[in-house]
Amino acid sequence: MIRIAIQSKGRLNEETVALLDSIGIKIDDAKRKFLSRSRNFPIEVLHMRDDDIPQLVANGTATLGIVGLNEVAEKAYPLDLVEKLGFGGCRISLAIPKSVDYPGLAWFAGKKIATSYPRILREFLDSRGISAEIEVITGSVEIAPAAGIADAIFDIVSSGSTLVSNGLVEVERVFESEAVLVSAGNLSEEDREVLDEMLFRIRSAKASKGKKYILMNLPSAAVPEAVKILPSMRSPTVMPLAAPGWSSLHSVVDKDELWDKVRQLKAIGAEGILVLNVDKIIL
Ligand code: ATP
Ligand code: MG
Repeated sequence: MIRIAIQSKGRLNEETVALLDSIGIKIDDAKRKFLSRSRNFPIEVLHMRDDDIPQLVANGTATLGIVGLNEVAEKAYPLDLVEKLGFGGCRISLAIPKSVDYPGLAWFAGKKIATSYPRILREFLDSRGISAEIEVITGSVEIAPAAGIADAIFDIVSSGSTLVSNGLVEVERVFESEAVLVSAGNLSEEDREVLDEMLFRIRSAKASKGKKYILMNLPSAAVPEAVKILPSMRSPTVMPLAAPGWSSLHSVVDKDELWDKVRQLKAIGAEGILVLNVDKIIL
């Protein structure tokens, strides 16, 4: 039985549960219980605070963990990064009061920087030869400059609105993070097989993200042009319609390119265009 540690509540919880659900791993009572078992997959889910997940995986309490790469890097246990999961994206950045004229990284020399990520910050400063004082604060780091606790902060940024409302400006993007699947490496044969099955499903779910299935009718003479507009996974499916001289064409497109493709296809005579969601792409 594989045990996976996930965040019990907070920013990563919902998308983690949704990811497990999308790969067919149903968990009862996702939030209420400390430990829950999947009904249909040989897995147990341990609901923890995100800070504790790297350690629990490193010491073998959990076989796998889903946690932000920022926590994995900060805790620095020897873990294998098995897969990036494509959600929970954020960065850790240096930010300073917006009233300060920023001349470059040298500004930080001799300054005091508040952060919950001292290890990542220290490594960055060392790599740039900057000597600064690090003040560790576990919450509300963004108020540190206004409160006179520090000259600058090193904190998580996603939209940047928290910085703005605290009169701060991001000056250096240091660390890019997203949710990741980690393990401690030494998996048993049996656990490895379960992990491989999970990975296969996760990759299929990831591959379908942002994809749409598109089908349309068009004059058969326009098919070669349409195939150029719609390069598919291998090549689009083309089927004859009962009406002579007409074909039906099916393909998969990126959501971001959809409207541009639709415009081009209409221009060469495509009609009856249908766009459907793609649930999984089995690779
Ligand atoms: P816990 O109670 O589990 O300790 P927490 O308060 O430490 O939760 P959250 O704020 O829920 O943590 O964030 C969890 C993770 O979500 C972060 O470590 C980071 O990887 C990711 N994340 C994505 N966007 C943001 C953001 N805007 N602010 C903070 N974390 C973010
Ligand atoms: Mg936490």
